[in-house]
Amino acid sequence: MNKAFDIVILGAGPAGTTCVLALKDSGLSIALIDKESFPRDKPCGDAIPGPCIKILKKVTENEQDLFNGLTKSADISNSHIYPAKGKKINIAWKAQAFNATRADFDNYLLNLVKSTTKTTVIEDFQVNNVAVEDKVIVTERSGTKVLTCDLLIAGDGTNSVVKRKMFSGTAHKGLNGYAIRSYYENVSCNANTNEFYLLDEFPGYFWIFPLTKNIYNVGVGLLNPTSEQAKSVNIKTSMQDVIENHPFISEKFKNASSIAKIQGFKLPLGGKDTSLTADHIMLTGDAAHLIDPLQGHGIDKAMESGVLAAKQAEICFKNKRFDSASMTIYQNAVETNIVKELRRNLWVMRFLFKFPFILRMAAWLAQHNPATVLGIFYRKRKNQVV
Ligand SMILES: Cc1cc2nc3c(=O)[nH]c(=O)nc-3n(C[C@H](O)[C@H](O)[C@H](O)COP(=O)(O)OP(=O)(O)OC[C@H]3O[C@@H](n4cnc5c(N)ncnc54)[C@H](O)[C@@H]3O)c2cc1C
Repeated sequence: MNKAFDIVILGAGPAGTTCVLALKDSGLSIALIDKESFPRDKPCGDAIPGPCIKILKKVTENEQDLFNGLTKSADISNSHIYPAKGKKINIAWKAQAFNATRADFDNYLLNLVKSTTKTTVIEDFQVNNVAVEDKVIVTERSGTKVLTCDLLIAGDGTNSVVKRKMFSGTAHKGLNGYAIRSYYENVSCNANTNEFYLLDEFPGYFWIFPLTKNIYNVGVGLLNPTSEQAKSVNIKTSMQDVIENHPFISEKFKNASSIAKIQGFKLPLGGKDTSLTADHIMLTGDAAHLIDPLQGHGIDKAMESGVLAAKQAEICFKNKRFDSASMTIYQNAVETNIVKELRRNLWVMRFLFKFPFILRMAAWLAQHNPATVLGIFYRKRKNQVV
């Protein structure tokens, strides 16, 4: 097989599918490829941040039956944050947010691509080599299937083959956190509330997020990877220990049973300088290191970067220029719309881990005036979870 396209989008996660949806009226020939066959699982907290809904509405121009065909949990109306000491902070969300397994959510996005665009979708296509000559040559691992294109948009996640092959030695100094998750049945929690626990056991948080049918996504995110505590902690053992022995949390798991093994993955945290373009290539989503270092969410950032990459792609074809120097609009737009906020959150995350009493103070303030606390974390975006 040897096929040519204007654009190849590598990875059918939220970054890749959203990018395709944003390009649906471009008239360009596009291939969206993924190593998996969908629906596929992806280790995640399954909390779909509110901005994803706004982005989807924009790229699909669909306000009405947007989530038809998606199995989602009851909408999430509250988040409870429990500091290690002190009282819980309750955040009531005004905008819509929900939880859904990534098998369901990502498959829903891919089905949108299949049903509303002319994209060539190729599953079970694991790329193991990328080379740039006057076109980009994308080779599948068997070596017999090759795609060529003018522009490669990489949304191939944390272990991006494109980043490894084409950006080694460039300014990718991003931090990596780590997160694990499992699924439990019969946890004693509210079905509309995401719970976050900041514990002394690890520099990050423990979460319980409700899904449908009395199933809960339970996990731990380590967000301060350079701390001594993060280097020494065994995250799986700590999570198990919290579930079995934490005085408050173990009560919630009294009648619960685990229904999935624990799975984990690196979190490519954003907020540092990164170069996102090379000749004929753009990085998006986790491949571009865009996870929020304070809260650990990245689906919204992946989708947002997908939209920005789509805009740049149209400009590239209009000007018939695909060199990195001509893609500054994308680099600058990601900086302004995403990285600036992540930089601030990286600073806040480090500050909070250094001075944990600030959070206890925030909890105290929240009892008296929640707006004060919300102002600290959510100055711009009012509906982010995780
Ligand atoms: C445990 C955990 C919990 C998390 N919880 C949340 C949460 O609750 N909310 C949130 O917003 N974020 C969460 N995140 C972060 C979130 O999962 C990512 O930010 C998001 O998935 C990034 O989307 P993406 O499209 O960039 O990459 P991905 O979703 O990783 O998609 C990449 C795609 O590329 C494909 N691919 C990879 N390599 C190749 C290859 N060589 N050839 C072909 N295809 C390839 C993969 O199969 C995959 O489908 C969590 C992360 C972890 C690890």
